[in-house]
Amino acid sequence: MLNASLEPLCIVSVHRAVLLMMCGKATVLETDGRTLHSAHVELPLPVVISLTRYVHVPVRRPVPPTRRTVLQRDSHRCAYCGGGADTVDHVHPRSKGGRHEWANVVAACVRCNHRKADRLLHELGWELPFTPRAPRWSIAFGSGAVRADPLWSAYVVA
Ligand SMILES: [Zn+2]
Repeated sequence: MLNASLEPLCIVSVHRAVLLMMCGKATVLETDGRTLHSAHVELPLPVVISLTRYVHVPVRRPVPPTRRTVLQRDSHRCAYCGGGADTVDHVHPRSKGGRHEWANVVAACVRCNHRKADRLLHELGWELPFTPRAPRWSIAFGSGAVRADPLWSAYVVA
């Protein structure tokens, strides 16, 4: 569900989306082509809706980098070998003054994390395939959820 300004707000159930549409509080932006039937009405199955009136949302605190959110941002892929990742690595090691912030954390597999230990990338000849940064999606819009429904991506992508 998007605000009237088309800014993503949250994920709602189809049931709630239909209720909002029926009382005129939301309009459909994307459907998946299917139709909902009831005794009285036929409605396009909503995938993306927007509120008809803007609601003021208090500024969201940025999502902190935790094991869960970092793995989610990096799709559980090791930044160093591309394999499945379970751990978080500080690119610039904390023991060498690296900070715990989005720009300095990546998902890593246990093996790479262990091999890297507290060394710097150039000491190993390793490179990051991307520049780590804070995800713009709120926690309600995990990147996995967006990928799961390509119709959402135009509205939610960072
Ligand atoms: Zn790895």
